[in-house]
Amino acid sequence: MSKSLLLAFTVLAASALSAQTPAPPKLSVQWEELSAAEFKDAIARSQGTCLLPFGIMEKHGPHLPLGNDLLNVRYVALNAAQQEYAVVFPAYYFGQIAEAKQQPGTVAYSRRLQLELLQETTDEMARNGCKKVIIVNGHGGNNSLLPYFAQTQLDAPHDYVVYVAAIGRSGPGEPKHKSPRETDMHAGESETSVSLIARPDLVHLDRATQESGADQGRVKLPDNVYTGIWWYARFPNHYAGDGSVASRELGEFEAKTWINGIVTAIRAVKADSESLRLQNQFFEQSKHPLETPR
Ligand SMILES: [Zn+2]
Repeated sequence: MSKSLLLAFTVLAASALSAQTPAPPKLSVQWEELSAAEFKDAIARSQGTCLLPFGIMEKHGPHLPLGNDLLNVRYVALNAAQQEYAVVFPAYYFGQIAEAKQQPGTVAYSRRLQLELLQETTDEMARNGCKKVIIVNGHGGNNSLLPYFAQTQLDAPHDYVVYVAAIGRSGPGEPKHKSPRETDMHAGESETSVSLIARPDLVHLDRATQESGADQGRVKLPDNVYTGIWWYARFPNHYAGDGSVASRELGEFEAKTWINGIVTAIRAVKADSESLRLQNQFFEQSKHPLETPR
């Protein structure tokens, strides 16, 4: 064998070897996929910033799966955490959905349990190093529950901060919608379009016109009066809008907008040291309010 051939073999063998050398393991963003040792690294890498994507089990018109909000919110949260590292809590869907109990497949926990479970969940996340918990909401029925939960974190001292990231699918430059925006509220064009991106295999566009998602407007009250039956009065099929006109184009835009919003939230929360500092000051002052400097 010639010297140059031998050299070529050596180089080949070396490159084959290096190709086999495993790359350092990628740290998963998913809590349930990490080993205990990896979890410690993940908390350090995330700077104690963790996401709690919050879904629900409820009917979504005639054409979307019961877990639609859970599947979509996990899709955007996982994508966001891969762009800006954060630890993502496992599937969570124990929210407010009393208004859909007349429909098959709804899982509606009592309000007591919703709040207790959420508190124990964020407490457990914090005990494990998640000192900044971002609840990423994926379900419109939680829009009152989650800010209320965040407000009530001030009722007793905590060594962590709860942040709530609202659903944010719309933005400037959005493709034109084909159905009216005012009633596109549940399993309609916008939400169905995002589902076409997150889980297209579970979307049955051909069934979307089997039921009406029209506003039935059965209770007439002024805008400044709220009552719990409002949703059932307007949308008893638990369908609001028209999912049949959904498109991948709109879905791509809205999913991306939502993901970008979560990435921005993760970065802002990582940079925020003021909330915990002020929260601690507040708890200290609340022990003796008469001495609070004015
Ligand atoms: Zn939904």
